Amino acid sequence: MSTETAEVKLRVGSQWIRSSTHGDSTAVFNPSTGKTIARTPVGSAADVDAAVTAARDAFDEWAETPVVERARVMFAYRELIARHFDELARLVTREHGKTYGEARAEVQRGLEMVEFACSVPTMISGDTFPQIAENVDGETNRHPLGVCVGITPYNFPNMVPLWMFPIAITCGNTFVLKPSEKVPLSAVRLVELLIEAGLPDGVINLVHGGKEVVDALLEHERVAAISFVGSTQVAKHVYQTGTAAGKRVQAAGGAKNHLIIMPDADIEQSAQALAASAFGCAGQRCMAGSVAIAVGSAGDPLLDRLLGVADRLNVAPTDNNDASEMGPVISADHRDRVAGYLDTAGQVGAKVVLDGRDVDAGDSFLLGPSIVDQVTTDMPLWKEEIFGPLLSVVRADSLQQALAIGKTCPFGNGASIFTRDGYAAREFKRHFNAGMIGINVGVPAPMAWLPFTGWNESFFGDLHIQGTEGVHFYTRQKMTLTRWFQSAADSHHDPVWKSK
Ligand code: NAD
Repeated sequence: MSTETAEVKLRVGSQWIRSSTHGDSTAVFNPSTGKTIARTPVGSAADVDAAVTAARDAFDEWAETPVVERARVMFAYRELIARHFDELARLVTREHGKTYGEARAEVQRGLEMVEFACSVPTMISGDTFPQIAENVDGETNRHPLGVCVGITPYNFPNMVPLWMFPIAITCGNTFVLKPSEKVPLSAVRLVELLIEAGLPDGVINLVHGGKEVVDALLEHERVAAISFVGSTQVAKHVYQTGTAAGKRVQAAGGAKNHLIIMPDADIEQSAQALAASAFGCAGQRCMAGSVAIAVGSAGDPLLDRLLGVADRLNVAPTDNNDASEMGPVISADHRDRVAGYLDTAGQVGAKVVLDGRDVDAGDSFLLGPSIVDQVTTDMPLWKEEIFGPLLSVVRADSLQQALAIGKTCPFGNGASIFTRDGYAAREFKRHFNAGMIGINVGVPAPMAWLPFTGWNESFFGDLHIQGTEGVHFYTRQKMTLTRWFQSAADSHHDPVWKSK
């Protein structure tokens, strides 16, 4: 078998091994060339059991390791990621297809998660309440949960795994990662570097595959907690199955993010931000702006400027081409699915004003930036997550109407307003039906120190990913009350506070 199409390995305990499904695998493509570059084993419940058992075996000792020593591994890991930054970015470009610049931005966000994890020692310290009752002191502290699992999507092969295991591991848990079968190579490299940073065997484990492997993880009796990021349908399944099996679950789902452009907005700057939001990473971001609501007179000038910006984009394969400004989508199937919305736009009463099907794709999975105007809320173009470089434009008469549209959206990840009017921005911030809000910001995605606060069908669970909530997700609190009685031998003494 050529190394180009070699099957990716699992990490179980101290070993890199082949899946027990020997040879049964799915293709990993380079979306810029359409060629197969590796194969992901489909995986099995036996693989899962081996990885979870290795993680459970490593747990007691790792949980007892002082948190400053656990954090020290993350400091070393941070240095290794920084040293291999370019290699990691190029790997993302190769297996995912995003541009070199976008891949670097992703690795930077992941690096910041590791930097955040280095601060876990201060974040897991508890509260103390001396003399909360007569001779009684109270305190809280945080304990790890056990074996934690991360199940990740294809669209951020580097960053999303790093949302999970650095915090979980520094909090004292052990981990099993199940990356997207479409982009397993970044996950393998991240795990290799973590081992090089000095992590003891069994603390990080890696399995591969799809539904069968995910379901085995959700139901394994020795798994304590599950972090999931992916589509809403699967997020719901993971949340319901995982919680029914008694596990703590955080499950981030899909999105339909609205960008509201008020008539007083700076149209040139708004158009630049909208194009970056809708077409960046070829629209494959859960925080991508996929619906523009143009309020009042903003519509026509905005479309005019958007067409100008999109026209200047260098849309090209990204492999060995750092000049590309917009790359392909993940697969031929996905490109055809997104193009399907353009095929039917006219039939449902919308108007394609920029048609990405015209692009010269060669063997790549390219689809050009696309804009559909006159979209209404009864159309699949508005109702469904498309997850490609397609911006739907809805016309509205007022901010109130835009807020009302948001209220009927089943998703609730992000939304942004473009305006110079503070009152309109405040109304929007307080009342738009989404958990992450931007004001003159095209992609209001939080960095490591802030929680990723999706609402509605964009998130299932309680404690979100990243920030303090991330640390709380991977730990449980213990409260201790302590009373020391004054012994008979001491009873002739006055308490110290009374002595002169
Ligand atoms: P996906 O749901 O198809 O896959 C996600 C993970 O679930 C993968 O590891 C996959 O192997 C597994 N999986 C797929 N089908 C399954 C099934 N039937 N049962 C059990 N497991 C299954 O998602 P994707 O296509 O890889 O990623 C794109 C999606 O992820 C989009 O919907 C996007 O909005 C979402 N996403 C959300 C966030 C967020 O923070 N809310 C961030 C990134 C991506």
